[in-house]
Amino acid sequence: MTQRETVALIALGANRPSEQGAPRETLKAALSLLEARGISVEKTSRWMTSPAWPAGSGPDYINGAARVSTVLSPKSLLDAMHKVEAILGRHRNGDRWAARTCDLDIIACRSMVSPDIATWRYFEAASAEASRENLIVPHPQMHRRAFVLLPLADVEPTWRHPVFGLTVTEMISDLPEEDCIAIAPLP
Ligand code: ATP
Ligand code: CA
Ligand code: CA
Repeated sequence: MTQRETVALIALGANRPSEQGAPRETLKAALSLLEARGISVEKTSRWMTSPAWPAGSGPDYINGAARVSTVLSPKSLLDAMHKVEAILGRHRNGDRWAARTCDLDIIACRSMVSPDIATWRYFEAASAEASRENLIVPHPQMHRRAFVLLPLADVEPTWRHPVFGLTVTEMISDLPEEDCIAIAPLP
């Protein structure tokens, strides 16, 4: 492994069909499209279902997680992920949590905190809704989301959050139980 290599944990989500078919087919296509761009998919989670958030805002989601590696920088990786989302029919209409064919987020890049700890803490505050054009890692809401953490536990349960010092498993045990039982692995 070279010094320039980016290793990232990513989250995948979809709750509307695309030209690829049902959400699970779209997310499998997203992994193939990342591979086609030289982004190596090293490990993937099971696919899981979760209720749309906010409640009642659309069909249930299919969620998954993966560990990828690439020679791209983290920001270039996110740009590539946005291109894959666009190929798979994601249209950004300014409605932040609207139903979507494909959502790909960078959850973490090892122990990187980006862009800096003060800015990261600002975005982590639940009410921070300012534009996030710069890459923020770890994803500022990941530790609150069962639909991110449960798939992530399939991929890297011992990854440790660089700000909170907690592993994925420990963050899951801090979640409300009802959040976790709402997430079900698919057969
Ligand atoms: P959330 O980020 O709360 O899951 P979302 O995925 O629906 O919401 P998007 O509409 O995809 O939000 O917009 C996310 C914005 O945040 C994009 O402009 C993207 O460039 C930026 N961004 C910053 N850091 C990240 C990251 N780690 N992963 C994904 N997008 C990020
Ligand atoms: Ca998201
Ligand atoms: Ca996103």
